[in-house]
Amino acid sequence: MSEQLPPVPDLQTVLVIMAHPDDAEFCCGGTAKILTEQGAAVHYIVLTNGDKGNHNLSVTVPELVRTRIREQRAAARLLGVQDVIFMGEEDGFLQPSRELRRRLVRHIRRMRPDLIICQYPEMLFRGHSYINHPDHRNAGLATLEAVFPAAGNPMFFPDLLAEGLEPHNIKELWMCMAPEPNHRVDISQYFELKIQALRQHASQFDDIDAMERWVRERWAEKDEQGELRYFESFKRMHFGS
Ligand SMILES: [Zn+2]
Repeated sequence: MSEQLPPVPDLQTVLVIMAHPDDAEFCCGGTAKILTEQGAAVHYIVLTNGDKGNHNLSVTVPELVRTRIREQRAAARLLGVQDVIFMGEEDGFLQPSRELRRRLVRHIRRMRPDLIICQYPEMLFRGHSYINHPDHRNAGLATLEAVFPAAGNPMFFPDLLAEGLEPHNIKELWMCMAPEPNHRVDISQYFELKIQALRQHASQFDDIDAMERWVRERWAEKDEQGELRYFESFKRMHFGS
């Protein structure tokens, strides 16, 4: 039996939780822009510092981390994102630990988002040539484990409650890279901005024009009239009534 989802409720506060600098722009750059244009306050949390995002050993790790923070802030600014929180976990070794769950619960209870956008935790590989980055899976898993049951249950992390951080339940969870998405956002009007935001991550692409060509192909779909449109797709979950 197919599950009927209610319409997307009013989304005033949105939290995007991703593994690396640049993941958010790939996953939901156009959606983030649409939400900010609709008046939502969109926040990013980037879990790792991106310190493996380079094959050039002449760049030092602190230099690389600084570059990636700068690039991520520039991309977020273009999309109207309010702020970016860098959690500073080591790139490549992200674990959905108890401590990370606590840190995420703190932010969720503090920001009280209606919607969280994260990475799908179960995608090991796609097709015959893409193995998903383990941090992407673990970022999704860490987020889900923070959302439920810890963020909404006062018995979890009583020290946070003592600080005045009351339990919080989100209304919506959207996961990108899901094998069977059930929610599509037409980002055609902001697709060029998504590209511009991705181009802010210049340190990540040996051939930035090749990246752009790939993105133009990867996100394109024909609508019923045969016109080219661009969509970001998610596995959407809805909570509460
Ligand atoms: Zn990534």
